[in-house]
Amino acid sequence: MRTVYVNGEYLPENEAKVSIFDRGFLMADGVYEVTSVLGGKLIDFDGHAVRLERSLKELDMAPACTKEELLAIHRELVAKNEITDGLVYLQITRGAPGDRDFAFPDPDTTPSTIVLFTQSKPGLANSPAAKVGMKVISIPDIRWHRRDIKTVQLLYPSMGKMMAKKAGCDDAWMIEDGFVTEGTSNNAYIVKNGKIITRELSNDILHGITRAAVLRFAKEAQMEVEERNFTIEEAKEADEAFVTSASSFVMPVVEIDGVTLGDGTPGSVAPRLREIYLEESLKKAI
Ligand code: PMP
Repeated sequence: MRTVYVNGEYLPENEAKVSIFDRGFLMADGVYEVTSVLGGKLIDFDGHAVRLERSLKELDMAPACTKEELLAIHRELVAKNEITDGLVYLQITRGAPGDRDFAFPDPDTTPSTIVLFTQSKPGLANSPAAKVGMKVISIPDIRWHRRDIKTVQLLYPSMGKMMAKKAGCDDAWMIEDGFVTEGTSNNAYIVKNGKIITRELSNDILHGITRAAVLRFAKEAQMEVEERNFTIEEAKEADEAFVTSASSFVMPVVEIDGVTLGDGTPGSVAPRLREIYLEESLKKAI
């Protein structure tokens, strides 16, 4: 049985409790982060901690603890649960005011709720899917317009994954005004004539921690990067495509809406970026 963390306590997972009045439960009034673990170490922890701070600030939520405390909790959970490869999930909500009310409760009397747990995923970095690539469908992006805040409002992304599954695919890319925003739980990229193209940062997409690292490594490796909008039609004519996220790292995409990209294999850019990302991130893992 796992040990989880709830509001200052390490508990067996079946003893951990959150109030039914918690605003995360009633209103999706909460934010989260997922940090992957490789070889027992945290990948990109700093990036996730900084983004968490920003998400909280944008929603006027008080930080539940300091970055140092957060790191200590992450490490303690990895150790207690003997995680070699896997992830640490963290969620902070605006707490449980003891009633249901749209107005935000006073943070002095309603402390935020903080929950962390681990998921073990042996061989996370050697996923067979990375060798064959993913198939995606496109769906309209009907999410709210603060996608830069990592909230727990994940119903539409869940629905998107189900639509993809029903179509015999692995994921969905979301489209707004004809342009690809991002994947249901990842940032989206295409490659044309060796150039890596991905949407620029704005409130329209989550500012992926993996995205930032991958683009930095790509530039360091003298690869050409262009941050701009691209349409789904352009994507279907690309030589390659891929997605990035903390739990999938760099994952090739080989088919979009039934259209095969290139020769239907992951190509060369995505696998190379995956290799560089894993190698460099492991060096800095803490
Ligand atoms: N976009 C969305 C909508 C996501 O849910 C995620 C995964 N959290 C990402 C992008 C990738 O972000 P990161 O690299 O920080 O995991």
